[in-house]
Amino acid sequence: MIQNLLTMIPGPTPVHESILAELSRPTTSHQDPAFVRAFRECLGELQRIAMAGSAQPFMVAGSGTLAMEMALVNLVRPEDKLLILSQGFFGDRYAQLAEAFGLRFELVQAEWGRATPPEELERRLTRGGYAAVAMTHVDTSTGAAAPIESYCSLLRGREELIILDGVCATGGMEERFDEWGLDVLLTGAQKALGAPPGLALLLVSPRALQKRRSSSDVRAYYADLLRWLPIMEDPARYFSTPPVNEVVALRAALRILSEEGLPARFLRHSRIARAIRAGLGAAGLELFTAPDCLADTLSVVRYATEVDDATFRTEMARRRVIVAGGLGPIAGKAFRIGHMGNIGTEEVCRLLQAVEGSLMHAGRKIDSGVSLAAAAPHLDG
Ligand code: PMP
Repeated sequence: MIQNLLTMIPGPTPVHESILAELSRPTTSHQDPAFVRAFRECLGELQRIAMAGSAQPFMVAGSGTLAMEMALVNLVRPEDKLLILSQGFFGDRYAQLAEAFGLRFELVQAEWGRATPPEELERRLTRGGYAAVAMTHVDTSTGAAAPIESYCSLLRGREELIILDGVCATGGMEERFDEWGLDVLLTGAQKALGAPPGLALLLVSPRALQKRRSSSDVRAYYADLLRWLPIMEDPARYFSTPPVNEVVALRAALRILSEEGLPARFLRHSRIARAIRAGLGAAGLELFTAPDCLADTLSVVRYATEVDDATFRTEMARRRVIVAGGLGPIAGKAFRIGHMGNIGTEEVCRLLQAVEGSLMHAGRKIDSGVSLAAAAPHLDG
């Protein structure tokens, strides 16, 4: 799926040509039976991907941030207290949303590049008083994956609702909604699912939906889960126009996922992550993220002191490979590579070649081809 311009940022990710072809089909009525079937298929696939047989799926035009907003605004009441476990820029966004809606919250910020240790959650839970705990599977700013399964086992059998941001993980790293006892898993179409941006996706547990049903003063209209529920049950009904082409494109992306199979897909993501990291290491680069928190979906890479961020990324772009800059405190000091969705060996090779070339351009001494040689053993398996 080599495209002339290779977008290796942590979302949006490269979109397979077969998905782009679906996007360009004639726009139909949202009541067209074929569209209604596509919509239903997407909802069913979302449940399957997250092993969420018990959950109600939602699919709404918007992005990951809308999904975060929907989770908080529907499920956290003004009298509640929300505990936020943040490992970076996007975890902190939960706190900004809570502030915007006047919700009470406690924010636990992990050191950048690390995740909050489960012991810290345990300590906070002993004090109690939370109605929900919001967490991020992978924070796209730091590349750190949180120990979600450990958090969830501490929360098992308790009252607090568990809200998980899977934007940078769902479809690329394993998430077991029912087994982990999640109440909300939220994501967007544009990352590990490999579809174009434009859809906010949520899975919501029966007890979370029950809480929404029993809340009378939810400050939302478009973001109100109850306005969307009838559409999820019968997509031929109308509340607000669905992005018809985008839904059909997502269906194509989810079919690719289903054909590949979840275990194979997760394995491919971890193999590609190892290959890229072996290649970067051989080129003399170090990761920003703590080794025990590494996610399979992106790498956050430190610059050597003499390499200038803008010059490096401009050189990468000249080689038709786009990587992302650092966010927040690591802006200018690190760059971010997305490696999720439908990428494979060819994209990894092109990325590493561009990194080598751009570093050499910045004056680093590297033996040409070392990074590819280091990556190769991981790509063969
Ligand atoms: N959460 C995480 C972990 C993200 O990476 C992002 C986007 N990079 C968001 C939330 C927000 O998603 P969006 O940009 O689609 O609104």
